[in-house]
Amino acid sequence: MTLLLGCIADDFTGATDLANNLVRAGMRTVQTIGVPGRDDLADAQAVVVALKSRTAPVAEAIEQSLAACRWLRTRGAQQIYFKVCSTFDSTAQGNIGPVAEALMAELGAGFAIVTPAFPENGRTVFKGHLFVGDVLLSDSPMRHHPLTPMTDANLVRVMQAQCQRERVGLIAHGTVAAGVRAVRERMADLQEQGVLFGVADALGDDDLHTLAAAGQGQLLCVAGSGLAIGIPTLHGLAPSPQAAQLPAPRGALAVVSGSCSAQTNAQVAHFIAQGGAAFAIDPLRIVAGEDLAQQALAWATPRLGAQPVLVYATAEAAAVREVQARLGAQRAGMLVEDTLARVAQGLVGAGVGQLLVAGGETSGACVQRLGIKQLRIGPQIDPGVPWCYAPHAGGLHLALKSGNFGGVEMFRRAFSLLA
Ligand code: ADP
Repeated sequence: MTLLLGCIADDFTGATDLANNLVRAGMRTVQTIGVPGRDDLADAQAVVVALKSRTAPVAEAIEQSLAACRWLRTRGAQQIYFKVCSTFDSTAQGNIGPVAEALMAELGAGFAIVTPAFPENGRTVFKGHLFVGDVLLSDSPMRHHPLTPMTDANLVRVMQAQCQRERVGLIAHGTVAAGVRAVRERMADLQEQGVLFGVADALGDDDLHTLAAAGQGQLLCVAGSGLAIGIPTLHGLAPSPQAAQLPAPRGALAVVSGSCSAQTNAQVAHFIAQGGAAFAIDPLRIVAGEDLAQQALAWATPRLGAQPVLVYATAEAAAVREVQARLGAQRAGMLVEDTLARVAQGLVGAGVGQLLVAGGETSGACVQRLGIKQLRIGPQIDPGVPWCYAPHAGGLHLALKSGNFGGVEMFRRAFSLLA
């Protein structure tokens, strides 16, 4: 089966978010962790290659992205979708601009639409300026991001500053609202002027559908997960339960949580208040030499069954700050991630077949530890969080939830949805 769409995502939970949008619009999608070593894509219509390239050194990000692109092209992918963050997370050096330029050269593409817009999640673009909810990107909390502070909302300027060769122009909302033909004309105009990247405005889903249609036939697009909602229909696909079908769930239920975001704290508190069985991981006890992974597994194993058990390091901001002050943020993070990854591995070994992991970095650590190379994307639990399936040790259903995603009762509701 040749691929209709090949996607390269610059981070892990972003890849799942994109895959989720494709599946919801009817496209059978597989997510791979890095460039796959072998082919086992069954009947996938789209593949999302998840990279960890967002903040990698530029040359490394380009190399990984090109490797993914070549692999996808040999599988017949008609179009390459470079998935970036919906808040355009990048540094002054890149990596969005340099990777997009490298992909354009590799593909010999004539033009690419650029839009991180995802109105459903409050990301809109107007006159090239990115809004997060009601405020400009540069006025949003993203301006304080530790790795990719975004202090300019003008995406034409941001993208241009990152590009070495190509010029960046604007496809304004008036043009998008006028429809597919108007957008195509604007693309041709820009191309004639030698401008090969067009930052496109989008205020609603209609705009994304117009842009997806206008971009049909282009070899490359650069977008958040939003643009994906308009692509499956161009291939004659419609939303259907089959696209999200996973094998029947098996095994015991568990949640592993290393996210300390406000919403995860609320989810943990809710789970415990409802009488859920929970085991807390204290980073200071790990440093003191206790093997908390082993203790957590000894505690969890006799409790495994049809009710989820929770192992969590999740803590309120003040407690996290205290731990970080004593251990350093990096060291504390790594100790906790390593412990939780061992817990996840032990739980699966002990018969867990349905596992929810909370936390972006935590998810990365668990998936790596479990040796998972590929995920099939299933039904959505909450926006941005689908159930996934790894044909792993008899089959594992896995949900990876980043930071502030998911309703407060998600740690229970996720499993009833699967049942
Ligand atoms: P999120 O998606 O909410 O950002 P992540 O898993 O990406 O969650 O990041 C949370 C980080 O905090 C991880 O590195 C994790 O190991 C670390 N962490 C978790 N619990 C604690 C804690 N109690 N003290 C300090 N660091 C913690």
